[in-house]
Amino acid sequence: MPTIDELGPIIGHVETDTFCEGCGFNLFTQSVVRDERLGVLICRCPECGKFSAAGRTNSAARVWLNRLGTVLLTVWVFFLLGLFSLCTLFLGMLSFGHMTEQTTMKPDAHAANTYGYSYHYVLRDPSRDEEEARQNTMEAIILDCTGGLLAALTGGLFSVLLWHVKGWRRLPALLPPLLGSGFAALIWIAEPAGRFIREWGLKQIVAYCLFEVIATAIGVLIGRPVARAVLKILTPPKVRQHLAFLWIVDGKVLPVEHKSVSKEHEVLPEATSQGRNTLVSPHGKNIS
Ligand SMILES: [Zn+2]
Repeated sequence: MPTIDELGPIIGHVETDTFCEGCGFNLFTQSVVRDERLGVLICRCPECGKFSAAGRTNSAARVWLNRLGTVLLTVWVFFLLGLFSLCTLFLGMLSFGHMTEQTTMKPDAHAANTYGYSYHYVLRDPSRDEEEARQNTMEAIILDCTGGLLAALTGGLFSVLLWHVKGWRRLPALLPPLLGSGFAALIWIAEPAGRFIREWGLKQIVAYCLFEVIATAIGVLIGRPVARAVLKILTPPKVRQHLAFLWIVDGKVLPVEHKSVSKEHEVLPEATSQGRNTLVSPHGKNIS
């Protein structure tokens, strides 16, 4: 059998994923020549030797679509990295905030002390009156709800945006709360003003980290069911089919609106009769 370059000059190379009909080998980058007798572009599978027509699908538009796809994929990856970095940052800030919320800054006894700082953290005194107690409780509730919701959102985003990740492989979803609180702990250890309540503060950060981890895990577990419920309300059935992967990945079937299907069937006979009225002759003229 002749090699591909013995058949004629190489015109180009296969520039898209095209699969050999014989063995399924990816013909990407294989040489393309023009068959002299037939005048069609062909390439040859290096695995099984089968010839196949080249250029059925790799038009210039297809090549540019592939390039655009690569660019969009890169943008998507950076978007995901940015999104989860932001989640990490805010979860860490909330972890730190939950701890410092229970403290106050006190001026040091001697302004010129060995640490060179004129303030230090101490545990906040018990509330002086009911009004202050109520205000402190409200602040704590708002902070905890924000942390819990953000952690659950992080987990939910992970399970929806990284829908291809299943089972225990979804454990990296717990990285944002762990890393965030880890950074918070490091900052607290390095904070000279926290020297009198360092251990207490670390325990607080660890406890809050645990709370965020549990909320994130809940978010991972309910993320896709919640997303499906929201999409059912927000999107019409036909558009929703683009998001069918959110159903398929969990072994579910995307519910189809049966009403619209039966409507199409009702319209069909009318459409065919209309089609009969506008039959096109072989010469391209309307027969009427
Ligand atoms: Zn092959």
